[in-house]
Amino acid sequence: MKTFYIETFGCQMNAHDSEKVAGTLLQQGYTQVENPEEAELILYNTCSIRDKAEQKVFSRLQQFKRESGKGKVFGVLGCVAQQEGEKIFERAPHVSLVAGSASYTKLPQLLVQLEAGNRRVTGLSLDTGETFDTPFTRRDNPHRAYITIIEGCDKACAYCVVPMTRGPERSRTSESVLREARSLAELGYSEVQLLGQNVNSYRDPSDTQWDFARLLRAVGEIDGLRRVRFTTSHPRDFVKEMVAAIDQDERLCNHVHLPVQSGSSDVLSRMQRLYSRDQYMRCIEWMKRAKRDIAITTDIIVGFPGETEADFLETVSLIEQIEYDSMFIFKYSKRPNTPALRYDDHIPEEEKTRRFLFLQERQRAIQIRRNSRYVGTTEEVHVEGYNLATHQWIGRTSQNKTLNFIDPDLPEPRGARTLVGQYMDVLVTRAGPNSLAGERATNRPASIS
Ligand code: SF4
Repeated sequence: MKTFYIETFGCQMNAHDSEKVAGTLLQQGYTQVENPEEAELILYNTCSIRDKAEQKVFSRLQQFKRESGKGKVFGVLGCVAQQEGEKIFERAPHVSLVAGSASYTKLPQLLVQLEAGNRRVTGLSLDTGETFDTPFTRRDNPHRAYITIIEGCDKACAYCVVPMTRGPERSRTSESVLREARSLAELGYSEVQLLGQNVNSYRDPSDTQWDFARLLRAVGEIDGLRRVRFTTSHPRDFVKEMVAAIDQDERLCNHVHLPVQSGSSDVLSRMQRLYSRDQYMRCIEWMKRAKRDIAITTDIIVGFPGETEADFLETVSLIEQIEYDSMFIFKYSKRPNTPALRYDDHIPEEEKTRRFLFLQERQRAIQIRRNSRYVGTTEEVHVEGYNLATHQWIGRTSQNKTLNFIDPDLPEPRGARTLVGQYMDVLVTRAGPNSLAGERATNRPASIS
């Protein structure tokens, strides 16, 4: 059993966990293959944030239930593994490994058990102070690297499974984070993204006792790094020092993702989000008053149990007051073992859909308005790829906006000649709700960000 295939569902934390799982397997002498048919070991790194996400892994496993699965070993990793545990062996008897993210540090031992022929191998303990801190990481993106600085979550939002699937908060030492960031810069990475369920709950467990703002500054000062991003922040732990750090160092990207979830303080209290609308607005005001133009994005749940029309209209008024650069809207989804499951007044699906579409339409108009401000300005992008269909290079601004552009000097990749990984000045000529378009700037007039 020396070839493996890994498929990832869900968030950036999962994507980076899979990079580290793959790195550990390669270090153990495995070879990675690109499709499950070729693999002897098939791993699914799963997400259980919504029911639909959870069902995906079982439909994958279903495909290999008969002949096609013969001689293969299957493993379920991540949040569904931790949530469902040994029940997965009953539901999918051809699965041999079930391990949650808090057990990845034990992966080499779990593999030894599998290689010894054990067909009911589990890693399900959440009782750990450890973080999955490994030098063996097979990174997907050669230009932008993830760095997990904190794992788990100590909050208890009423709709969320994460505390039950990823365990208690545990931060890496600042020294280990800085060591990883420096080695990435030496490898030629110019952009890193700091990751955590609540990245700003970070607290260095070593003597420095650094908080997130202090760590962010230190990462920004590493030679060779040109852009530092971070996600996801929690409003309860959002402090002015984070805005000051962004304002004082251009290498810290001027984009903050700050999930609000609802504009109604009543709903926020029943969601157990630990802040009110006013407290959230204070964080927004700090960013709106910053010297740099900080792009703000968010997550919103519509149809949380008991959300009245008035509550919903408070969410509408909040997005119109703040004018987010973009947002992810989710319909409330019942999740196992979460407090909200026991709440009454579950909102009918059609009504959730009505609220979802209404908010989406309002936000679309806001994004068109906000993005049109960039037309005629020049923005610096980090080039991430090339779109064969539109014959445009794909760039990303410091504010995390997609800016697709043409370059008369190099209209498309030519052999080794490519713009991917480079930083370019682009003159913005058009704006849409979700992206900007432009052409390579020959000189550098004013920019917004
Ligand atoms: S802060 Fe809330 S929503 Fe975020 S991971 Fe923790 S429990 Fe889930």
